[in-house]
Amino acid sequence: MALVVQKFGGTSVGSIDRMRNVARRAIAAQKKGDKIVVIVSAMSGETNRLLGLAHQMVAVPDAREMDVIAATGEQVAAALTAMAIQNEGGQARSLLGHQVKILTDGAFTKARIKTIEGSKIFSTLEQGQIAVVAGFQGVNEHGDITTLGRGGSDTSAVAIAAAIGADACEIYTDVDGVYTTDPNICPSARKIPRISYEEMLELASLGAKVLQIRSVEIAMKYGVPVHVRSSFSDVEGTWVTGEDKALEDVVVAGVAYDKNEARVHCVGLNDKPGVVAELFGAMADKNISVDMIIQNVSKESHDRADVTFTLAKTDLLRAKPFIEEVAKRLGSQEVRYDEDIVKVSIVGLGMRSHAGIAAKMFRIMAAEGINIQAISTSEIKVSCLIHAKYTELAVRALHDGFGLAKAVER
Ligand code: ASP
Ligand code: MG
Repeated sequence: MALVVQKFGGTSVGSIDRMRNVARRAIAAQKKGDKIVVIVSAMSGETNRLLGLAHQMVAVPDAREMDVIAATGEQVAAALTAMAIQNEGGQARSLLGHQVKILTDGAFTKARIKTIEGSKIFSTLEQGQIAVVAGFQGVNEHGDITTLGRGGSDTSAVAIAAAIGADACEIYTDVDGVYTTDPNICPSARKIPRISYEEMLELASLGAKVLQIRSVEIAMKYGVPVHVRSSFSDVEGTWVTGEDKALEDVVVAGVAYDKNEARVHCVGLNDKPGVVAELFGAMADKNISVDMIIQNVSKESHDRADVTFTLAKTDLLRAKPFIEEVAKRLGSQEVRYDEDIVKVSIVGLGMRSHAGIAAKMFRIMAAEGINIQAISTSEIKVSCLIHAKYTELAVRALHDGFGLAKAVER
């Protein structure tokens, strides 16, 4: 007998019929002898609808009230799913965040879970019920409703799985697993049978949307085995697990691309201590995260330096005025911007023990005539910034160049 958490995303509970499907799946698993905790997202489109209502009321809604509204999406889905299970002949009870209780900090709209009490879930399971828990929501120490950020139901599921010591956390979604790259632009992409937490973290932070980043962090911290799979079929999906030899043997596990960054080039800054500290300190003060950074001697003069960096496109408009102000103060004559860029990355545990992976990536890009504008690396990732028009070409060339089109046993 196993204790299993099954999380169903918005499309999986997107209609009455689909909820009946969820109910049948949960009941079938329970009949095998397992104890089942179901976590649900809001029905697809519902969270956007609710947030839209709030924005119709006021341009900048109060964050506490936003969470009161947003949390209703999951409340509705949890009750409907419990009814669906009852209607299919099973026993179920819905539980909201404050009932469980999922205690979070007070950061409305992006709260972090502090603790989860298991007792209410356990007593529900002891009575032979399937516990249906509303994802995405929690409660702060004052009893106010909080939500965990967009995609937060994944985090609810993994955190609950960790708290109750579940044997596995199944994430049911509208794709059948994690792919070697985006199948929409690379026809030879294939499903990865098994991937490490660390690789998944890198892929998630590069924009692979299957799992919220925070959920992967929690899974890694507590060693929760996560199974990402389709709610529309029974085929095995992708297991996200701890590292082992078989995973380390694969040099590159996936190729990712991210079109959400913009490049900023500050030309001819003074070349002296404290300049970049001031430039990036100013960004940090405004809560703007910077990703890639390069500094080199300016073309114009040898006592000047050029600094190029990337930030989220969504932050660019807000950042422009003070970037220009700081850059000018630091001696720069000109700041250039480019939004027509993409960051292409390769990710794999095997990079730790294999030399020459970055060089191979650069050779593959060169062979396609693609110019690289910036590079950044981590222990298990190499990223290159290139012109956006080369996205598909680069992704396909890297995917095939690193042998990802062929099935690999992991
Ligand atoms: N319903 C929330 C959202 O759309 C949480 C989730 O689906 O994971 O972001
Ligand atoms: Mg999601």
